[in-house]
Amino acid sequence: MADVVRLIFNNKHGLHMSTTPGAILTTDIAIIGAGPVGLFGVFAAGMLNMKTVVIDSLELAGGQLTALYPEKPVFDIPGHPSIEAQELIVNLQKQAEPFHPVYLLDQQVMTLEKLPDGASHYWKLTTSKNSIVHARAIIIAAGVGAFGPNRPPVEKLDIYEATGNVHYLVKKREAFRGKKLVIAGGGDSAVDWVMSLKEIAARVAIVHRRDGFRAADANVDKMRAWAAAGEIDYVVPYTVKSLHGDGARLSGVEVESKSGNRILEADHFLAFYGLSNKLGPIAEWGLDLDKKHIHVDPATCASNIPGIFAAGDIALYPGKLHLILAGFCEIEMACHAAYKIVHPDVELKFEYSSAKGVPGSPGSPAAD
Ligand SMILES: Cc1cc2nc3c(=O)[nH]c(=O)nc-3n(C[C@H](O)[C@H](O)[C@H](O)COP(=O)(O)OP(=O)(O)OC[C@H]3O[C@@H](n4cnc5c(N)ncnc54)[C@H](O)[C@@H]3O)c2cc1C
Repeated sequence: MADVVRLIFNNKHGLHMSTTPGAILTTDIAIIGAGPVGLFGVFAAGMLNMKTVVIDSLELAGGQLTALYPEKPVFDIPGHPSIEAQELIVNLQKQAEPFHPVYLLDQQVMTLEKLPDGASHYWKLTTSKNSIVHARAIIIAAGVGAFGPNRPPVEKLDIYEATGNVHYLVKKREAFRGKKLVIAGGGDSAVDWVMSLKEIAARVAIVHRRDGFRAADANVDKMRAWAAAGEIDYVVPYTVKSLHGDGARLSGVEVESKSGNRILEADHFLAFYGLSNKLGPIAEWGLDLDKKHIHVDPATCASNIPGIFAAGDIALYPGKLHLILAGFCEIEMACHAAYKIVHPDVELKFEYSSAKGVPGSPGSPAAD
């Protein structure tokens, strides 16, 4: 299952994350967006001796590929006749690793301020978790906007979000071992997690508003067979109304339908109602925008604000192609242009990667 693969990768490779609220991180380039383009930006910047901090509103890196189509094969990445979207993200993270990026995940960039003249860095970014990043240049690789889960209109949701009993994705499958789970939603994520968590949970209930799922037929058939055998609770057609508990711990999920209300015993509520995307605060930074896109100079990917660049789906210029490969090229160009800001006194001496090598790679000239 792609979600599990993703989490195993993220745990195994230990994304470097700062979790101290208010901590100030200084870097050369702050990249907004850990989609494929932002991730490749870590490599492109690293090859030019520039450090990066990458910020994303999602808990996982990967942008649209991880959030929307992790298991789909992609056929137009040069050198890969076919590659699963999530595998491409895993590879991009591996490619970025030698340059030790800092990832600030699960936090949206909220404000961008210019630091006073004479400061060693030029920009101050603040995130929704009060992380602060001082950077010499900014690359916005924010795709179609900040992704976040669609929160259902359920009473007392915020109370049990705060107690850690409400989940919009599964960070650690083991955390649900022996627990009573109510899973809501009608798509692949809800059905896949019923399949996976039934193996370890004390009890699983699936709640959906209609008796039809947008998920693989084989999985839906299996889920219904388990329900018929009494192995899971198939709570259909019902919607989730309210969460119950003592305010410190969830004890039940109230569901409603025309036939009346029921309270399902629950330790955790897992809601899979899809993701929304919003440009958010970026729209207020004075950038030259066309709806949700930033106009850039196609030669450098520079925006109208000196020191701020844009690449990937969010960048716009005549002839723009909304393709991953176009984004890779754009962020490479943005890094070359940003080099002059990060290292104003050092001339850029470009070397091919085959000549320069990558830190730590065996046989690489840069191995030491
Ligand atoms: C179903 C589907 C299939 C596709 N198939 C292909 C294909 O076969 N080939 C191809 O080339 N392209 C394909 N695409 C398009 C491709 O996915 C995009 O071109 C690509 O994802 C763009 O990458 P990106 O890094 O620019 O943006 P994204 O992948 O959108 O990533 C941007 C990231 O920035 C984050 N972000 C945005 N704003 C903020 C903020 N303020 N603070 C913090 N984080 C923020 C978002 O949460 C997101 O994770 C497909 C798209 C879809 C939906």
